[in-house]
Amino acid sequence: MNLVVKCPTCKTAVEWTKDSQFRPFCSERCRLIDLGAWGSEQYSVPVSGLPDQSDAEPLN
Ligand SMILES: [Zn+2]
Repeated sequence: MNLVVKCPTCKTAVEWTKDSQFRPFCSERCRLIDLGAWGSEQYSVPVSGLPDQSDAEPLN
């Protein structure tokens, strides 16, 4: 029984066998594209530059 998945990058049908080393991707290229997308997403963390309000002067 051959399981076929779709490459997450280019939507090409990929046979899920032990020979398809890049599964679920159709090729190394598509795998790298996906990994790159994840990597860039992780690097776009927001800057932790919120003002520290502990120094604010108390209002009387
Ligand atoms: Zn692909």
